[in-house]
Amino acid sequence: MSRPYYIAGNWKMHKTRAEAAELARALVEGLKDGKHRYLVAPGFTLIETVAPILKGTNIRLGAQNCAPEEQGAHTGEVSVLQLKELGVQTIILGHSERRHVYSEDDALINRKVKLALAHGFEVILCVGEQLHEREGGIAEGICEGQTTKGLDGVAPGDLERVVIAYEPVWAIGTGKTATPEDADAIHASIRRVVGKLYGEAAGERMIIQYGGSVKGDNAARLMAKANIDGALVGGASLKAETFAPIAKFA
Ligand code: PEP
Repeated sequence: MSRPYYIAGNWKMHKTRAEAAELARALVEGLKDGKHRYLVAPGFTLIETVAPILKGTNIRLGAQNCAPEEQGAHTGEVSVLQLKELGVQTIILGHSERRHVYSEDDALINRKVKLALAHGFEVILCVGEQLHEREGGIAEGICEGQTTKGLDGVAPGDLERVVIAYEPVWAIGTGKTATPEDADAIHASIRRVVGKLYGEAAGERMIIQYGGSVKGDNAARLMAKANIDGALVGGASLKAETFAPIAKFA
């Protein structure tokens, strides 16, 4: 089955509004004839600046997180209602920095996933093992568990708005990339899990991105693998010159 390639840039906590506008404009120009699906996820305070630049282009607007509740006494959090108002289409959830720096667990991430889907967003659910888990031979089990728990209670009809990003924690921002073969094996196991939960056809349709030091010079080799359907890119998404070669990989 042929799935679209989907390349997403996670800008994390980088850029001022002027810098974000400049990057967004450069990406709109650079990717306007790109053949794949694209998304950028600027920090919350940049979204209003970037939204009008991306409007009507082939680049979707993403956010990097949301609160698990619609509204209320949640100091410092950002609500799905606030993101919707700004034109956000996709929310990245369960990023390893949220899991491991801010102690988000699978149950919390699952609440966010369900809330974002209920409000009509596309969700990129990130999963991935830590180095000691890979070395201990349990990478597949960790990713399968995070996938199952992250999707708990997600209705089959909402699954088409879910994308999974496999991001081995030891590869994020470190310059170390999983080999295409190792990444593909995990992607295949995630696809099997989705297939077990929602039926084989749903597993086949699931877009699974790889993330972890993706660069222009390794993107094509990763994406050549049968189960790798795109990339979630951190560091290399911060400049048009480094993101465009990934986004337009041949
Ligand atoms: C990420 O933060 O999702 C990521 C994959 O970062 P990097 O590309 O910098 O490893």
